[in-house]
Parts: sequence; structure tokens; C-alpha cells
Amino acid sequence: MSFFKRIATPLIQRGIPVIPVNPGEKKCTLEKWQDRAQLGPAMIDFWDEENPAYNVGCVAYTTPGGICILDCDVQRLPQRIEAESGHKFEPTLVVKSAGKGCLHVYYRQTARSIAIGNRKVGDLFDFQCNRKYVVGPGSVLAETGKTYTIFQDYEIADFPDWLGDWIESNSRTAKKSAGCKMSPVRDEFDMDDLMDFYGYDWRQMGTWYNFVSECPVAGYQHKSAKLPGFFFDGEDLGWNCWASGCESNGWSAGRVIKALNEKHGTPYPHLIWPDNTMEIVEAGGIGGNFATEAVSNDVSEGAIGGERGNPGKTKTPVKIRLKPRYQALTATGETISSMDGKTWRDSKGRTICVTQQQKR
Ligand SMILES: [Zn+2]
Repeated sequence: MSFFKRIATPLIQRGIPVIPVNPGEKKCTLEKWQDRAQLGPAMIDFWDEENPAYNVGCVAYTTPGGICILDCDVQRLPQRIEAESGHKFEPTLVVKSAGKGCLHVYYRQTARSIAIGNRKVGDLFDFQCNRKYVVGPGSVLAETGKTYTIFQDYEIADFPDWLGDWIESNSRTAKKSAGCKMSPVRDEFDMDDLMDFYGYDWRQMGTWYNFVSECPVAGYQHKSAKLPGFFFDGEDLGWNCWASGCESNGWSAGRVIKALNEKHGTPYPHLIWPDNTMEIVEAGGIGGNFATEAVSNDVSEGAIGGERGNPGKTKTPVKIRLKPRYQALTATGETISSMDGKTWRDSKGRTICVTQQQKR
């Protein structure tokens, strides 16, 4: 049996939806993988034929029978959680990563785990709850030459409530310390892709994605604060420059991205925010007063950007109605001035986003 099939088959037999991951890597470049994880053998055969050297990814979904994974970023995190919570981990499936040798603790979804949702606390853990994956056992990491191995082989246990308490109290603390405006992004948002898009030198330090050679808003490197950057914890996106004189201080990530788009000439081509964070502002643009009406009062029958992905599913047509005195401000800060239900344009006629319906 070839490699991919050999490592993927036992996982689907345990009820873990899988995707192919690039050979020897952690990255999955399968388009719309979030919607394409499989539990059936036919697709495993297909991917195996496509490339038998694929690694495997295990995907968390908040569906009945779905799995979620506590993805530890540090050694001995389970011991720390036990000490802090006063509870012991019961047997469940645990996998040791081929990178830092940290543990992936697998659980079946419960109401509690679903309520928690995805969490990321930089350099400590990720709670992969919905449309997230971890690299699965049997996969090989070329850079270390090591294999993801099953560390504890038990039936996947239900997610324990006490672990939910620990995750919640620990991720809350981390969020407070970010100290900037934040807004939640779409599940398929790819932070590395956004950072790469603009072509600046950058590095990741935990939950901060720093521009290392210049402040992209100011256009030069501040003397006082040399590492402006985006905060991203897997869920929320924020911005901070820290240089006292920088105009970008206090800006939302969306406003910074709008500025970067203008400098770059081409806007970042992927949707970043889900429709529910779209803001309706009074005509007059970004500086205008934010209206207090709920988005749903002004936008009906679907949502900006529509549903992405999930080929094969029927889409609700995207229809937007706006009161004349309102314009819609997209998540990237572009003001929408025209839309035909498929293509949205800003005041200069540039395409802001093309909905799924357009592409199909
Ligand atoms: Zn700055």
C-alpha cells in the first residue's frame, strides 16, 4: 500500500476527516481544503493516485461526531494544564509532532468544545475546533526527517468540560494583552499569504507578524519602535505600530490593509473578514460616523462575499440592498460604490471582491 493511503486509512476508520498535505511538509495547498476533508475511502484513493507521498491532515469540524484538537506549542503543556486545572487528562488519542515533539490531543466535539471555537495563544497552544487541521500521525517532516507518531493510542474521548474552562481562561488573558482593535477573520484566512502579498520583510513572533525593515504605513523605519505589525491569533486580526508619532496608531487592521492596498496598487485578492463584520457607514467614507443599525437591517438575503467554497453546494445568490445614504465599507476599508451582485467595485471602479457566483 502506498504511503498516503497507508497513513490516511486508519484515520478515516477512526472517524477523522482527512486532507492531503504537501509531501514532507505541514502545509496543505489543496484549494478550499476547509470544505474538502473526507471520511470515505474513494477520495483517499484519488489523492493517493494524485501523489502517494502526501502527508495527511486531520480536520476539525464542529459537526456531530467531529473532532477537535488541542495542539500544544510547548513541551509539557499537558502537565502544566493538569497542575493549573487540578484535573487529569483521561486516555484519548494523542499524537507527537515531528517538529518540536509537542502533543496533539484529539477529542470528539461536545457542546462545550463547539461553544469555545478556535483559539490560539501564541507559543502556547492552538485549539483547533472548526475548519482547522493538524498534521496527522504517519506524516513525515522533511526538515527534521521525523515522523508524527501516535503517542497514546486510545479511542477518541469526548472533550472534557474542565479543559474547556482552562482553554477559555487562558485564551482570554492572552487577548487582553494584545492592546489593539481586533476583528475576527474568515476561517480560510491565511495570515502568511497576506504578509507575503505586500512584499515586505516580515517575521512572526508568536501572535505578532512584524514588518522588520520599515513601517509600511509610514514608509520608513521608525527610530523609536522598529517592529510594527499585525496581531493575529488564528481568529482575530489587529494592528499596532507603537511608534508614538505614527499615524497608524489606533487604526484597525482593515484600515492598515486598505493603506497597504493603495501603496501596492493591487488590493489583496482574498476575502479577509466574514460578512458579519461588515460595517455600514454613512456616505462620506471612513471618517464618517458609524451608523448603529445592525448590518442585517441594511443588507438582506445573504452576505458580502457569499459563501465560499464547498463545491457542489447550492449557493444563495448574493443580493445587497443599501439605503441610499449609506455605503458599505468592506472589511478591507474600501468603500463599495457599485455592485451587480457578483462584482463589487470601489469609487474608482476597481474590483473589491468577486463573489463565488461570479467564478462559477
Ligand atoms: Zn508606523
